[in-house]
Amino acid sequence: MDTIGDVSEALLGRIEARRDELVELTRELIRFPTVNPPGEGYVECAEFIGTRLSKRGFDVEYVRADGTPGDSERYPRLNVIARREGGNPGPCVHFNSHIDVVQAGGGWSVDPFAGEVRDGKVFGRGACDMKGGLAASIIAVETLLDSVGDWPGAIEISGTVDEESGGFGGVHYLAERGWFSAPKVNHVIIPEPLNPDRVCIGHRGVWWAEIETHGRIAHGSMPFLGNCAVRHMQAVLERFERDLYPLLMARTTEMPVVPSGARHSTLNLNSIHGGQAEQATGLPAPCVPDSCRLVIDRRLLIEESLASAKAEVLGILDRLARERAGFSYSIRDILEVIPSMTDRNGPVARTTAAAVRRVISRDPEFICSPGTYDQKHIDRVGKLKDCVAYGPGLLDLAHQPDEYVGIDDLVTSAKVMALAAWSLLNRIA
Ligand SMILES: [Zn+2]
Repeated sequence: MDTIGDVSEALLGRIEARRDELVELTRELIRFPTVNPPGEGYVECAEFIGTRLSKRGFDVEYVRADGTPGDSERYPRLNVIARREGGNPGPCVHFNSHIDVVQAGGGWSVDPFAGEVRDGKVFGRGACDMKGGLAASIIAVETLLDSVGDWPGAIEISGTVDEESGGFGGVHYLAERGWFSAPKVNHVIIPEPLNPDRVCIGHRGVWWAEIETHGRIAHGSMPFLGNCAVRHMQAVLERFERDLYPLLMARTTEMPVVPSGARHSTLNLNSIHGGQAEQATGLPAPCVPDSCRLVIDRRLLIEESLASAKAEVLGILDRLARERAGFSYSIRDILEVIPSMTDRNGPVARTTAAAVRRVISRDPEFICSPGTYDQKHIDRVGKLKDCVAYGPGLLDLAHQPDEYVGIDDLVTSAKVMALAAWSLLNRIA
C-alpha cells in the first residue's frame, strides 16, 4: 500500500467503524476540567493522552514549562508530546492540540464537564475548542498506523497548555526548545474548530497597548486650575475617528479572513479608565482627572508590520503633543503577535485540501482566522512555515454556553486528517 488510492478506501472505512470510540474519547477528554486560568487538571489530562499513546507504541515525553505565567506546584504547565517513528526515513507530521479550555461561564443547559451526547452532538466546554479535534487526530493517527504495515518518517501528537492565555507555557515554550522546528518536525496540523470543509492557513496579528494621557488634579469647582486628562483622551479619540479609522477601513488584504469584515485592519477600544474612582460612600470624586488610560486592540493584516501599526498611532499622539496645549502621554505595549499565513500551495495546505475533497467531494475553502492561535509560535519561534489549522466544530461555538461538536464532523475530520497525514508522509501532494 503505497499510494493514497490504495489506502484511502480501507482507511476511511476503518475510521467510520470507530465512530463510537471517537465519541467516547471526546467525552473522556471533556471530563477533564482543564480550565485556564488557573490551569486545572493539566497533569491528569496530559497523562491520559500519554498513557493511551504509549500503549500504541508511541514514545511519550512530558515537558513542564517551568516558570512560565501561571506555572506553580499546584498548577504545573504540563505538555505531552508523543512520537512514533516509521521504518524508513521521511518527513514528520505533527498534530498539535491545546488541552486547556476557557471557563464554563453561565447559561448552560447541560453539565459543561460531563460530555453529554444528544442529537448527534457531544456537548461540553472544549467539545469544539478543541478536545473534539484532539480526539479526531488521535483516532485518525491510530487508525492510519494500524492500517499500513510501515510508513516513512514519523508522526507526532501533542497536547499543549495555555493556548487560551497566549500559549507561553505551551507551544511557545516548546518551540523555543526546538520541538516545532525542522528537521524534527516538517508539517503541522492544528485541529482548531474551523468547520470540516475549511482549511485555515493563518491568522491576523495583534498589538495591544495602553495609552495614558496625563493631567493635573484640581478641585472640580475650579477646573481651570487643573489639566483634564479625560479631555485630552477625548482629543485622542477624535483624531482616531477622523484620521485613523478611515485609513484602517480603506486597507484591504489578500488574506482570506472570515468573517469578511475582518479583511480590513481593525481597532477596538477595549477599555477606558479616567479620573478618581468613586468613594466608598458611592459619591463621585470632586476632582479634575489627572490620568486617563485607554487600552487598544489593533489587529494587523499580513501586509502590515507591528512597526507601521505603532507608527500610525504614535504619529497621532505626537501631533497632538505639538498642537494641543497641556497634552502629554505615555504608551505601554501589552501584547504583540505577528500576522502569520502559510502558502496555500505549500505541502500541508494543498494536501489537507485534497483530503477534504476526497472525503466530502467538495472543494474546501481556504480561510484565515480574525484572531490568533498557536500557529504564531510555530511560525515566529519554530521558524516552521508549513502549518495549517484544520478541525471539526463550528468556530462560532467556541467559548459559548452549550458548546458542542457534531459527531459527523468529528468523523469527517478524522478521515481528512488520516488521509492528509498519509499523503504528507509519502510526499503525495
Ligand atoms: Zn482553541
